[in-house]
Amino acid sequence: MDIERIRKDFPILDQQVNGQPLVYFDNAATTQKPLAVIRRISDYYLKENSNVHRGVHHLSQVATEAYENARNFVANYINAEDSKEIIFTRGTTESINLLATVMRSWILPGDEIVITGMEHHSNLVPWQQLCESSGGKIKLKVLPVNLDGTLDLGFLEKMLTPQVKLLAVTHISNVLGTINPVKEIVELAHKKGVPVLLDGAQGIAHAKVDVQELGVDFYAFSGHKIYGPMGIGVLYGRFTWLKRLPPYQFGGEMIDRVTFKKTTFNELPYKYEAGTPNVVGALSLETALRYVQQTGLEKIFQHEDKLLKYATEKLKEIEGVRIFGQAPNKAAVVSFLIDDIHPYDLGMLLDQMGIAVRTGHHCAEPLMNFYCIPGTVRASFAMYNTLKEVDIFINAVKKAVGMLR
Ligand code: PLP
Repeated sequence: MDIERIRKDFPILDQQVNGQPLVYFDNAATTQKPLAVIRRISDYYLKENSNVHRGVHHLSQVATEAYENARNFVANYINAEDSKEIIFTRGTTESINLLATVMRSWILPGDEIVITGMEHHSNLVPWQQLCESSGGKIKLKVLPVNLDGTLDLGFLEKMLTPQVKLLAVTHISNVLGTINPVKEIVELAHKKGVPVLLDGAQGIAHAKVDVQELGVDFYAFSGHKIYGPMGIGVLYGRFTWLKRLPPYQFGGEMIDRVTFKKTTFNELPYKYEAGTPNVVGALSLETALRYVQQTGLEKIFQHEDKLLKYATEKLKEIEGVRIFGQAPNKAAVVSFLIDDIHPYDLGMLLDQMGIAVRTGHHCAEPLMNFYCIPGTVRASFAMYNTLKEVDIFINAVKKAVGMLR
C-alpha cells in the first residue's frame, strides 16, 4: 500500500499540534475523511441538494436516485440480500436504540437478553432500559469476559436458555481489540432459535462484513468510523425481522395513508426512516466505502495488523506496562496502562507532543470495573498511519513516563 499517496488524500493529517507533526492514533473514536468524501459533501450542496422521495422536479429526482443508489451500494458492500434491509440512521447508537425500541414487541416479560462484558455503553444501556421498563420482568444476562479479552463460548451456550430472545454482541471490542468469533456465536445462538445483533461500530472498519456469511440477523454501524461523515449510520436487519417488527418513529416518509382515524405504514426500508433523511450523509458514506474498496480491504487489514503488532511489541518493552486485550484475533486497537500512572496524565503529555490518543473508560465502564482500573490509554490505527508514527509514539510514551515517574 502506498501510504504516502494515501496520506495526501487526508489533508488534516498534515498539520502541527503543539509544535509537533500530528500523530493521529484516535481512529477507534473517529477516522479522518479523505478528500473524495469532503468533495462529495460539497458537490451535493453545490449541485444536487433537494429533498428526496417527494418531488417530481429534476433536483428531487437526482437526489432521490443518488440516495437510493447509496442504499444499494451499502447493501452490496455488506452483502445484504436486499437493499430493503438497509435502514439509514444517525449511527450505531441510533441503530441499536431503534432496535431496542421495536424489539419491545418481541421481548416480553419473562424473557431474557444476553450481552457480553465487553460491550460499549451503546450496546448495553438500550437493552438495560428495555429490561427496566418491564419493571424487572425482562432480565439482562451478561456473558463474562476472560482476562485475556476473549469470550467463553462454552459458557455462552449454557446461557442461551429458552427464555433468551436476543443476543447482542460486539463484532470487535473498541477497548480490547478482540475480533469475536461471530460465525460460531451466531451458530450457537441460532441453534437455540435466538436472533443475533452485532454492534459493528468497529467491525465495519477492520473486518470483512458479509452479513449473509456471518449469518447475523442485525448489524449496526456508523459512517464516521470508516472514513465517512458523522451523523450517518446503518441498521441492517433481515427482511423477515424488519417486516414483522413495528415502526420506530412516526411522521413523514414512513407512512402509507393517513386519515384522522388511522394511519397505515410504508414498506421497508421507509417504514424505519421517518422525516427527512441525511441524504448527503448517505451519499458520502457511499464515497467512503468506495474509497476503502478501491484501496483494498485486505491490504488495509494487513497494514493495520503490522502497526498493531509492532506497537504492541514496542510497548511490551516498557517496564511496568499492562496491555488489556491479548486475544489471538485482534484488530487495530491497543489499550494499556503503565505502572499506576493515570491514563489522563499520560494522554495529556502525549498531546503536548502532538500525539492524539484516547484516555478513559472508552464508554465501557463495566469492562473497566472488571479489570479494576479507572481507564486505559488507547492507541488505535487506520490505513494512513505509519510505522514511523508508532516509533514517535513509543518514544513519546517513554519520555512521558520518565516525567511522570
Ligand atoms: N459500539 C462500539 C463498539 C463503539 O466503538 C462505538 C463508538 O465508539 C459505538 C458503539 C457508538 O458509535 P456511535 O457513537 O458512532 O454511535
